[in-house]
Amino acid sequence: MQRNLFLGVEAIGQAAIDAGISGIYAYPGTPSTEITEYIQNNKIAVERDIHREWSANEKTALEEALGMSYAGKRSMACMKHVGLNVAADVFMNAAITGIHGGLVITVADDPSQHSSQNEQDSRFYGKFAMIPVFEPSNQQEAYDMTREAFAFSEKTKLPVMMRITTRLAHSRAGVVQKEILPENELKLPENLMQFMLLPAYGRKYYQNLLDKQDWLTELSEKSKFNTFTEGKDKGLGIVTCGIAHNYLMENYPEGKCPYPVVKISQYPVPEKWLKKLENECDELLIIEEGYPLVEELLKDYFEKGTKVCGRLSGALPRRGELNPDHVAKALGKEKAETFKVPDNLANRPPSLCAGCGHQDTYFALNEVIEEIGDGRVFSDIGCYTLGALPPYNTINTCVDMGASITMAKGASDAGLKPVFAVIGDSTFTHSGITGLLDCVVENTNVNIIIVDNEAVAMTGGQDSSAKGKIERICEGIGVQPEHIRLFIPLKKNHDEIVEIIKEEMEYDGVSVIIGRRECIQKIARTKKINKAKKQA
Ligand code: SF4
Repeated sequence: MQRNLFLGVEAIGQAAIDAGISGIYAYPGTPSTEITEYIQNNKIAVERDIHREWSANEKTALEEALGMSYAGKRSMACMKHVGLNVAADVFMNAAITGIHGGLVITVADDPSQHSSQNEQDSRFYGKFAMIPVFEPSNQQEAYDMTREAFAFSEKTKLPVMMRITTRLAHSRAGVVQKEILPENELKLPENLMQFMLLPAYGRKYYQNLLDKQDWLTELSEKSKFNTFTEGKDKGLGIVTCGIAHNYLMENYPEGKCPYPVVKISQYPVPEKWLKKLENECDELLIIEEGYPLVEELLKDYFEKGTKVCGRLSGALPRRGELNPDHVAKALGKEKAETFKVPDNLANRPPSLCAGCGHQDTYFALNEVIEEIGDGRVFSDIGCYTLGALPPYNTINTCVDMGASITMAKGASDAGLKPVFAVIGDSTFTHSGITGLLDCVVENTNVNIIIVDNEAVAMTGGQDSSAKGKIERICEGIGVQPEHIRLFIPLKKNHDEIVEIIKEEMEYDGVSVIIGRRECIQKIARTKKINKAKKQA
């Protein structure tokens, strides 16, 4: 079959198409975004009319994917790790309902927080929900495992989580593709009450989930993705998880590690292989990307007091991405000579693009803040978060999607007045709407500034669900029409913007101030695409 040079995310997208999915549901979030984008632009996906539009947030995405599974078809939901927090409710309950058509939930973790608020490890969610978790160690495995995950999901009747990390998502390798499977036929579940989680049903289904756990462990022990490799030196036994296997093997360019190695790419952990390793070796080293999940498990697992080392013990760094050098150090090896970072390589802190409309909003807001004092601007997640940095220094908080409006409300309830919430158009439809509803119900004194760039700009300019509808949504929720104000964030409008903000600041109630100007990067991209289309 054909070999393609795929990014990890592209391998997953292609595998999902080849496995016969009928829909992908996602909200953009680095490093998971390109899975959906790959499917959106794929010829077969277009021909088959696979569902591939963005969802309002990760919770709606997973619920929609579950609905497709109910109808018997294969579906995938994608998100980044913090997005799984948003989808946690349906995620936990989907483990109880189980699936009908195969359902794979791909979650991309971001150790080292390259573009994220934290570096949480989604394997814990998988363990928490007691569902199978697949964790590929390279691009070929990402393809093979994704493809098989759908069949595995249908075999176990459970959703399967594909956990990847940034390094795998955004690096390339040759991937051999297999044939493209047909889509499932539309069909209803045999038990029409399968997705009915009334307590009487829910208790029974939860017991079913518990009853499957030994079987899932057995399947892990038989899985071709979990391996035990013999080694002559039993002074140390090594456990590698997912991509961390590469970090180990890069220390042995000849391809042979002297120690016995258990490679884990499918969870629940293969107990049999871990017990064998523990029986044979004096000490265990656990190499895993993310939290010390397996290390913590093994520390309590063996009664003999086997020494277990890893991120928890300090043998490996507790936070951040791992790399082959970290592993070399843990193995007591000399650090391999790698490329030196050139001295003239400039450090480039992130910043708003020159000419971005957010700048004009922040300069106007700063003028107002200067009069009333700092510490009043609650922000959200998007390009505008860069307003925390010089030369703006405008915003004071950034916690999670939607938290700008709700935190501003809490601060206003506490007596801090005036307060501002800055939120983007897409984040507003992701999680801001419900916060606005809370403000409207209590007529809270807040000034909400929606910086509307008509895109999910930070992740690459995907369409925003709010496009052209923000005023109507706000009015529909109950904001007084005279306190929904619009401006165009341009330098020449500075005085007008300051005036609008000041006027609304005087109002004791909910104000929504919308600054609308399309993201200039998106304009440039659209022009390029249109030009290419014309030339084609
Ligand atoms: S990508 Fe768009 S919204 Fe983001 S900083 Fe650049 S111009 Fe502004």
